[in-house]
Amino acid sequence: MLKKILFTVISFLPAITALAQPDYFYPNSGSFNQSIPTPEKFLGYAIGTHHTRHDKLVEYFKELDRLSDKVALQVIGETYEHRQQIAAIFTSPSNHQRLEEIRKTNLAGQVTGSTENIPLVIHLGYNVHGNEPSSSEAAMLMAYYLTASESDETTKWLNDMVILMDPVINPDGRDRHSHWANMHKASPIVGDPIDREHTEIWPGGRFNHYWFDLNRDWFLGTFPETRNRIKFFHHWRPYVQTDHHEMGSNATFYFDPGEDASNNPVVPNYIYKTIYPKYAEYFSKATDKLGSMYFTKEAYDKLYPGYGSSYINFYGGAGFLFEQGSSRGHVQETNTIPITFAFTIRNQLTASLTTVRASLAEKSLLLKLRKEFYRAAKEQASKSLVKGYLFGDANDETRTRAFVDLLLLHEIEVYEAGNNSTDGKGYYVPTDQNNYIMVRSVFEKAITYIDSSFYDASAWSLVHAYNLPYTELKTSYNAGKRITVLPPQQFNTLEKSNYAYVISNTDYNVHKAIYHLQEAGVIVQSAFRPFTTVVNGKNKVYGYGSILIPVQQQRITSDSLFKAISITAKQSNINCYGLNTGYSAGGIDMGSGYVRTLKQPAAVMIVGIGVAAPEAGEIWHLLDERLQMPITKLDILNLGRADFRRYNTMIMVSGNYSLIDKPATDKIKAWVQSGNTLITIKTGSEWAIKNGFTKEKLLPVDSAKGTPVRQDFDMAVHIEGAKAMGGSIFRADLDSTHPIGFGFTNRKISLYRNGLTLLQPSANPYSTVSQYTSEPLIGGYVHNTTLKKIKNSAAILVGAEGTGRVIMFSDNPNFRGTWYGTNKLFLNALFYGSNINVPQLAGVVIPTGK
Ligand SMILES: [Zn+2]
Repeated sequence: MLKKILFTVISFLPAITALAQPDYFYPNSGSFNQSIPTPEKFLGYAIGTHHTRHDKLVEYFKELDRLSDKVALQVIGETYEHRQQIAAIFTSPSNHQRLEEIRKTNLAGQVTGSTENIPLVIHLGYNVHGNEPSSSEAAMLMAYYLTASESDETTKWLNDMVILMDPVINPDGRDRHSHWANMHKASPIVGDPIDREHTEIWPGGRFNHYWFDLNRDWFLGTFPETRNRIKFFHHWRPYVQTDHHEMGSNATFYFDPGEDASNNPVVPNYIYKTIYPKYAEYFSKATDKLGSMYFTKEAYDKLYPGYGSSYINFYGGAGFLFEQGSSRGHVQETNTIPITFAFTIRNQLTASLTTVRASLAEKSLLLKLRKEFYRAAKEQASKSLVKGYLFGDANDETRTRAFVDLLLLHEIEVYEAGNNSTDGKGYYVPTDQNNYIMVRSVFEKAITYIDSSFYDASAWSLVHAYNLPYTELKTSYNAGKRITVLPPQQFNTLEKSNYAYVISNTDYNVHKAIYHLQEAGVIVQSAFRPFTTVVNGKNKVYGYGSILIPVQQQRITSDSLFKAISITAKQSNINCYGLNTGYSAGGIDMGSGYVRTLKQPAAVMIVGIGVAAPEAGEIWHLLDERLQMPITKLDILNLGRADFRRYNTMIMVSGNYSLIDKPATDKIKAWVQSGNTLITIKTGSEWAIKNGFTKEKLLPVDSAKGTPVRQDFDMAVHIEGAKAMGGSIFRADLDSTHPIGFGFTNRKISLYRNGLTLLQPSANPYSTVSQYTSEPLIGGYVHNTTLKKIKNSAAILVGAEGTGRVIMFSDNPNFRGTWYGTNKLFLNALFYGSNINVPQLAGVVIPTGK
């Protein structure tokens, strides 16, 4: 799995002028091995005077690996933009000789914490947010120090520890920002905060290639960067994991402990009571010595399992968050003195050195933590009324398998369902297992929290995100065999038909299949009403929106059609069946007027300044990676000159669309009215309603009446924070006879809400496709007044606009690339949108827009 890459180092040490190696970063730290180049010597500039390109950083680590037997470098993967993900391992030469033995002994002692006699394994991770660049520069200094320092302390560290290092967690984002800062750097440097160097253009360097926040992805495992990293994590199971960030330029420095009330209630409390206060003694002492200001115990939480500083908590280890006020650029004015890049790097380096120092000193405490963690987990499991979770959707193997794949990534024990399982596609996760704390986080929907203002989500039950039917079993269960890798999928052998083919639309991959068939020139139809037909000698019911492909009514020959379907079925992992007759055993026949020809989506999405980059990125990623379907990313500044005739579907995610002027708004409106489809999400829906694209209405957010109750000034953060919609899971009813609801076998769906877009149910009884139930909260926190508003509000509306339509979502169905359960709603809008005509009411004039 982990590949050690052998490389030849091109010997191109830059000509070095006598740049002073400053004592600035390492005061009083003794002698260094002169054969190891400092970063400054290798790169040709002093750290802090330039943003180091990722490839140069990788070259430096390779050079250390080449020159020193204290370092081993591994390439653990590659990003979308072909940057290498590296992991460096620092330990003494003799430990390197027996590294595999140390690793295995460390893993074997996980649950009991009995690893006293081997070196302590810790992990240092840097720069998950690309435009928070100080920590990767610090990583180079740290790597140099561990390799070159000849002090007794460093020698002891390497004898007694294995220090793993991930110098750049987000290489693509980091380079995006580094280029920006370097290309705008002036001479002399300019610290004016409004200078272009300090104000990155959209989407900024925070995100990865698909504009995702990788510091939310540890739990979700959506991206290759994260998946490679999680595999590396479980390969080693370190005791400590660091995560370095930056915050606003006027902020100081943050280290743990975080806010007390926002500790995760599922994680055994021992860690919060002992480890974090203990380490804070070390961090404060070291930072005091520098004279740097700092804060703890506020602003940041360890609640969500998917941060780089929290994931390890769910495996009995200590994660440490560091947040440094950012120079974002080489120097920036602040409300005291200007902050320099070098200053920010020095604090990150000091935090790293201190983490290593503290970890070795507190080894027995860390071992005790792990032992205590697994003891407490075992106790929680034995007290749990739930003995296991049985889950799976027999109608959607793709979605079920994606979920199992994620469980396996987190090293959760998964079993095949027992013999008496009805569908044969179910899986079972027992609660009595070592990773029970992670099991709870994945399956439980209603965990009680102490605080009510959340930095981020307050609910993340993944079984709901995947919209998977599941049962909590309260008695012991006879499961099948344990699964450690997903078994290959089974498919039917497609037989050539001269009449028609049929594909069920319940599988997650159906849209991928539709797109690729259309791309191959196949006319694809959809049955807007169910039917029963014979496949493989048996009657099978095909629900609303099932896919039909006639053979004779094609522009291509039956042989070419058969070939196209065979290829597509294989590529899309779906079953397709040939039919010999158009006569149905029940429901509509193949030639019914309810069978509609689907238009191939030609999609465009507005992106750029003001648009929520992660939401847009989620759609871009969905179509690229899961459908292999192109979408045009139209910059908001180019709306005026774009030729809309190329497209039949436009997407507007959340955003501030004030850059769209009146002529551009009218241009979009005219395009919709002439028969096209506008899909809007959250505040994108608000924009459409406020700009008169539809007669549908918003519900007012704030209905506070009368004189407000007087409060103390200092209560504002708490009271107003509690009203924010951090992110919770709700239940809605879905009209599964509507094209947006096609392929859903259950009318009750889970939605993720983290915004305050509230849609009023339509005056047209057929237009409210999905509606929140009267008791909608499934899990997470929501303020009472907000909950009242959400009850019975509309989740999805389809408004008519001329001969076109606007499909409005109150929430993001593609949240963080993980909501497999609601992706289908969005993809239905994209693939069926052109075929939706809003029903008119007899005798009533339904407004159809201006
Ligand atoms: Zn950050």
